[in-house]
Amino acid sequence: MSVDIKPEHQPEGLEGAGFFATSLDKVVGLARANSLWPLPFATSCCGIEFMATMASHYDLARFGSERLSFSPRQADLLMVMGTISKKMGPILRQVYEQMAEPKWVLSMGACACSGGIFDSYSVLQGIDRIIPVDVYIPGCPPRPEQVLDGILKIQELTKSESIRRRDSPEYKAMLEQYGIE
Ligand code: SF4
Repeated sequence: MSVDIKPEHQPEGLEGAGFFATSLDKVVGLARANSLWPLPFATSCCGIEFMATMASHYDLARFGSERLSFSPRQADLLMVMGTISKKMGPILRQVYEQMAEPKWVLSMGACACSGGIFDSYSVLQGIDRIIPVDVYIPGCPPRPEQVLDGILKIQELTKSESIRRRDSPEYKAMLEQYGIE
């Protein structure tokens, strides 16, 4: 059986006999994008869809993200899936703060993005009220294909991000808006 394996595209650069030159930003971005370590913060049904995304049929391992971390200190992609109550908000924020830079946040499903159908006194109406979010995945629940699409979008972000972005005044100002130092 022939297997059609498509290798990752090399970053833009200068190529010649015996050499390839590119920028540090692009090499670091390529490495980060293909070795994301997700921390699944799953509280309800969207978490089940994520489990399907991890299983053999959709196989998130193809994107270098098979190593889930349940410790914030060894994760760089926070995936929030499910209803987040206001009582749970400070815990989610603590998990975010414990993750080292650089880190990205993926909000999966209507509940995490906007509270979903739970427009009630006890449910947080979107996690971006307490932590910054990089990519939103709509749906109730989103299909595993949508989760993969969200991961690909995060990979695009990581590939194109300057390694100096996290030290920039704009990034610090954004964190300050959330009261995060
Ligand atoms: S978005 Fe829908 S499937 Fe996902 S946690 Fe909320 S109610 Fe469940």
